[in-house]
Amino acid sequence: MTNVAVKIDIVRSSIAEAARRSGRDAEDVELLAVCKTFSAEVVHEAVEAGLRLFGENRVQEFLAKQPLLPSHLRWHLIGHLQSNKIRKVLPCVEAIQSVDSLDLARDIDRVAAEMGLFPKVYLEVNVAAEASKFGFATAMLESQLENLLALKRLEIQGLMCIPPPGRKPEDSRKYFIFLREFRDTLEKQSGATFAKLSMGMSHDYAVAVEEGATIVRVGSAIFGSR
Ligand SMILES: *Cc1c(COP(=O)(O)O)cnc(C)c1O
Repeated sequence: MTNVAVKIDIVRSSIAEAARRSGRDAEDVELLAVCKTFSAEVVHEAVEAGLRLFGENRVQEFLAKQPLLPSHLRWHLIGHLQSNKIRKVLPCVEAIQSVDSLDLARDIDRVAAEMGLFPKVYLEVNVAAEASKFGFATAMLESQLENLLALKRLEIQGLMCIPPPGRKPEDSRKYFIFLREFRDTLEKQSGATFAKLSMGMSHDYAVAVEEGATIVRVGSAIFGSR
């Protein structure tokens, strides 16, 4: 097995163990491999090991890499998206996880209508109200939810968060609980369903699974340090 394949095995078993600990089905947790900064060749090792779902945070890098890889892979954009790049990225991704403002959501909706698409999106939540981070402030998202749900082209699948860097995995738990409970609140308020929770990265994905993540975004634990 390649180094990447070995690491994927380890991540998969930790996900399965965390699911078991919390009475969840490991099948309900998707592993998204974050391959930013890594070459198509390295990504190919992950494909060989059976991974199909990949994430990139930069549009430019993503669009350069995707054509070098098999066409049956699924891609999610996980980094901040500028409106002028929507048209390029929309036909190439399964989902945009980084919808972080009503303006961006409106722009995606408009471009999607022009292109005849119905994109899947996640709303990124700034769970610790960090000035340095993208994402909806929680109060803002509550007040804008109706406007977001009125965008008929968008299929809002769920929420995504990037908690502040902690010293240990356990430090992230309160943010993961927060995102799950905030999702429940939004569902009650709106009557809509947001089934997906994208949370957990290399150092804290096991905790995220225990707290209900349906998709974990793992980079360095698979591909090595950047
Ligand atoms: C880079 C990145 C990840 C993966 O980070 P690792 O710590 O390498 O697992 C996950 N989510 C987002 C949004 C990222 O930009």
